[in-house]
Formats: sequence, C-alpha cells, structure tokens
Amino acid sequence: MTSLTKKKSYMSEEDNAYTQQLKAFQVLQAFSIEELLGFTNNGGVWNHCPDGDIELLDYLRKFNERIHGAGPPGGPLNFCPGLFGGFEQFHEDSALYSIANLFEAKETKTLCLATHFPCGMAKKHKHTIQEVVHMAYIAHIRFCTDLQKRLNALLVMAGFPHLQLKSDRVFSFFHGAKLISGIVEENTYIFNPYKYAEHFVTS
Ligand SMILES: [Zn+2]
Repeated sequence: MTSLTKKKSYMSEEDNAYTQQLKAFQVLQAFSIEELLGFTNNGGVWNHCPDGDIELLDYLRKFNERIHGAGPPGGPLNFCPGLFGGFEQFHEDSALYSIANLFEAKETKTLCLATHFPCGMAKKHKHTIQEVVHMAYIAHIRFCTDLQKRLNALLVMAGFPHLQLKSDRVFSFFHGAKLISGIVEENTYIFNPYKYAEHFVTS
C-alpha cells in the first residue's frame, strides 16, 4: 500500500520554536469546545485554506458540525495584497462574495479566518511560517476595516443589512501540525491579532 502520509509535511524544529514563542506571548491561545460553540452563531462562516495539507475543517468538526466553509486555496492569505505571492484580486473578490452569500444563507454574523502551517499554497509561494502568521494578522485587521466595509456593502446590496459584520465577530485561528518522535501532533489555536501586534509588529 502506498503511503499518502509520505506527502505530508510538518513544521520544522525552528517553526515549532516560533509557535512556542507565539504561545508564550499569548498570540496563539488554547480554547475550549464551549468557547468555540459560544462565539459562533449558527456555526459561523469559515474562510480557510482547503489545499489538503491539513484538513482543518475535519478537525474542527470534532467540536462543531455546523461549519460553513468559503474561500479559495490559501484561505486568509488571499486577503493580503503585496504580501501573498499568489494574490489575485479576483480571489479576494470572490471570497468576499462567498462570505456574504454564506452570511445570508446561514443567517450568521460570525466570520472565522483560519490559516494553517504547513500550507501547500504558502509552500508554493515560498512563504515562511513567520510570513504566514503575519498574513493571518493582516487579513484579520483588514476584516476589521476596509474588507468589513466591502462585505457590509455587499450585504446591503443583497438586502441583508441586519447581517452586517462587526469587528468583534471576526475570529482568527491557526492550525499547526508537527511530528514529534514519529507521532503527529495537530493543534488549533485561537490567534490574537492584538497580542501579535504588541509583540511582533515593529512600526
Ligand atoms: Zn494551505
């Protein structure tokens, strides 16, 4: 039998050390199942990277089966013009339309942005874990500013102004996979963009 796992990649020791640093500064925080259920409304809309390196949604369905996914490969990286090597304006636009449609279809006002590492799309464009985490931050901040306005304009246009996105309904997640002594360990953390800005962004 051929092993599909051969194709899987995992965080290097250096990548792992960086995530430990992020955890120490509370940029990456553990969360409970109850919290996840509490802050999503009807499951929320998840913008995630479906490149298959890590099936984040499969993992999260263990916590919550009502997850509605939207977005092209790269997930939140597609909201990072000038940073993501695979950025295309039409991907950003179509992802926004998908999110607006799912807000309407599922009557939710919660947006969850999920990045992962290793990420096939990030690898394709030679991005490091530091760059991926920085893009997670940029995408989150944009959904609290310009992208929030564009999404809300789409919802108004579609006749669903009551579903408008608010900054406090944007949540970011980071899913990492590592191999320790031959055992795969995968974890999803909530990503705190404000802690990241405090400790990792130099002005
Ligand atoms: Zn990916």
